[in-house]
Amino acid sequence: MNKVLNYINGQFVDPVNDNWLDNYSPADGDIYGHIPDSSKEDVAQAYLAAKEAFPAWSQTTLEARSRLLIKISELLEANLERFAEAESKDNGKPISLARSVDIPRAASNFRFFGNAITQFASESHESVGQHAMNFTLRQPIGVVGCISPWNLPLYLFTWKIAPAIAAGNCIVAKPSEVTPMTAFLLGDICTEAGLPKGVLNIVHGSGHTTGQAIIEHPGIKAISFTGGTTTGAHIAKTAAPMFKKLSLELGGKNPNIIFSDCDYDAMLETTVRSSFANQGQICLCGSRIFVEASIYDRFKTDFVEKVKQLKVGHPSAPDTDIGALVSKSHLEKVAGYIDIAGNEGGTLLCGGHKVTVDGYENGYYFEPTIIEIDSNDCRVNQEEIFGPIVTIMPFEGEKEALKMANAVKYGLSATIWTNNLKRAMSMSNQLQAGIIWINTWMLRDLRTPFGGVKASGVGREGGFEALRFFTQAKNVCIKY
Ligand code: NAP
Repeated sequence: MNKVLNYINGQFVDPVNDNWLDNYSPADGDIYGHIPDSSKEDVAQAYLAAKEAFPAWSQTTLEARSRLLIKISELLEANLERFAEAESKDNGKPISLARSVDIPRAASNFRFFGNAITQFASESHESVGQHAMNFTLRQPIGVVGCISPWNLPLYLFTWKIAPAIAAGNCIVAKPSEVTPMTAFLLGDICTEAGLPKGVLNIVHGSGHTTGQAIIEHPGIKAISFTGGTTTGAHIAKTAAPMFKKLSLELGGKNPNIIFSDCDYDAMLETTVRSSFANQGQICLCGSRIFVEASIYDRFKTDFVEKVKQLKVGHPSAPDTDIGALVSKSHLEKVAGYIDIAGNEGGTLLCGGHKVTVDGYENGYYFEPTIIEIDSNDCRVNQEEIFGPIVTIMPFEGEKEALKMANAVKYGLSATIWTNNLKRAMSMSNQLQAGIIWINTWMLRDLRTPFGGVKASGVGREGGFEALRFFTQAKNVCIKY
């Protein structure tokens, strides 16, 4: 049985109240470990460690910080296989994905921000005619809170931690209680890399106790949160009266808009991936597929045929395309949308059922599912399902595509398939989303701003945006 411990002040420790939560393996439904059900007291200890570490850490040279972050990145790369196995077991994702995406990206996060901090410059403004010079100091905030979800566990955890540390802050962090394992393993790597104790503190536990204690703590001055929109709204409500700085990366219901003039084969291949990668549990997945009417029937036939070939299987099997969903409750939520779609007149084109994988009968498997709908207003097109279910629907012309794409409360990302540059630009300008992909999906450059509009969040992560979030600007004016 695995035992996950809190990482506070550079030490692995039990929770103060000795309460523990079960950790399930999605692939077989077994309990394979226990994690701390941390309370306010654990968060308070983590905060004190961070507060104590802050004066020295915030004065560390940029070069020293950079070297340390790059060292963590190298150690992650050296331990890639161990981390990939842990991530796959904890989350249910195919090990091939953890190996090729999750862990390499976590390592890139540290390397990227290790380099970025050495290039992060402040501004100066000469007040001509007034004999004055202004310059801006970008100072770390102090102790910050980082809370991340279960879908890309280490990838998103480190996407927050790396810039926060690079900018000179100390951290109290909480990964999702459902996927704590790689964050736990990260503690050892940080110690080995020589990260001073107290700079990063990781407390495990449920959102409503541990997470709540972090967002309520008066000494934690900023919260970087990735997760659901409802949780994000709750965090905003709790943190606003304390004037905490907030970055909220929330849910999505992203349109994938396919025009007849696209490169058809590339579109089809990528659309399979953008629909079902990580069992459809990526906030950026294109779950609403709108297809220009003239190619709709062709697309429908080809897409269904391709999706039927995807293999649902144990995450560690090399030929698995679709692993297990993250938890039993999530599986039930996803499965529930099949009836909802049916009641609203949706037609099931493929999938729609739980899958029993031989030898792992209690695992949380679900078929990749395509539902044909005739209205964008139905619940399956308006609510975030966050699983292997997509809808398809035809449209006539740019105007209608745009109208349907924007008629949703979310605004995270959108994908457009077209070779018409004018159309691509016009759509990009008008789509209500923080990220637009044209003729591609999830092609990431870590320098770019990342985040959503509307109910998909406030604030931007990535590149210098993240370093701006984790610092405060102070203007200094000198009269000469
Ligand atoms: P979630 O339920 O909102 O949880 C996210 C994190 O918040 C978890 O660590 C959770 O802890 C914690 N939490 C829950 N209640 C809290 C509270 N009262 N105070 C503080 N923390 C609390 O989301 P999820 O189900 O893990 O993740 C799926 C969602 O994340 C989807 O909506 C997806 O779109 C979104 N997401 C967005 C992005 C983006 O970049 N925009 C990226 C990935 C995922 P527990 O796990 O212990 O409950």
